[in-house]
Amino acid sequence: MIVAIDGPAASGKSTVARALARRLGFAYLDTGAMYRAVAALALDRGIDLADEAALARLAEGEVITFGHPAGDPVPDTVHIGGTDVTAAIRTPEADAAVSAVARVPGVRAAMVAQQRRLAGASDTVVEGRDIGTVVFPDAPVKAYLTASAEERARRRHGELAERGHALEERAVHEGIEARDSADSTRAASPLAVADDAVVVDTTGMSVDEVVERVARLVGEAS
Ligand code: C5P
Repeated sequence: MIVAIDGPAASGKSTVARALARRLGFAYLDTGAMYRAVAALALDRGIDLADEAALARLAEGEVITFGHPAGDPVPDTVHIGGTDVTAAIRTPEADAAVSAVARVPGVRAAMVAQQRRLAGASDTVVEGRDIGTVVFPDAPVKAYLTASAEERARRRHGELAERGHALEERAVHEGIEARDSADSTRAASPLAVADDAVVVDTTGMSVDEVVERVARLVGEAS
């Protein structure tokens, strides 16, 4: 079974999807990490983010792999080709570059093919922007998580600070809004709520409450 979890930046998708995968004994696929991996490699190789053909060639030529601690569905390493991008995908530079990479149709086609291969074989919680609409439109469970822009900025600011990136909360807020706007208005597979998705506004909800809510949807679909 595929459990599709979509939503805007810092809506709590990763935290919830990871907890859910561990609780259900499902695999977990973070598709945002895949777009981030392409962005990190493009930055590393000095590829112009406006050069769509070069970005598509990069995505088509490189396989993304996740490394897992024994028995844990949540990966602790990400490689693209031979390059370890585990840290590079979570930097402010990757945050700023990823939407430009993810808007390229050739990049998306290459990522969607890899995502279907990675998640198609077993029960998997898959998180992203277009999982319920494009990647797995037949997923029996689709949750769209959202939260107020203020709450999302607060959460992402805290995560970045924990990793040693000292940014003003205001700058984080602006970055999140810019990314949401780019992700929602692009032509190829924009961020959108699937017709059959259940929308969960996580503002003021605890992680456990959100996990419980989505786990109930899985129980109803089983
Ligand atoms: O989920 P996360 O914030 O890590 O995603 C990073 C970026 O990757 C998003 O802002 C979006 O541009 C892109 N993305 C996407 N489609 C997905 C997942 C992520 O376009 N399924």
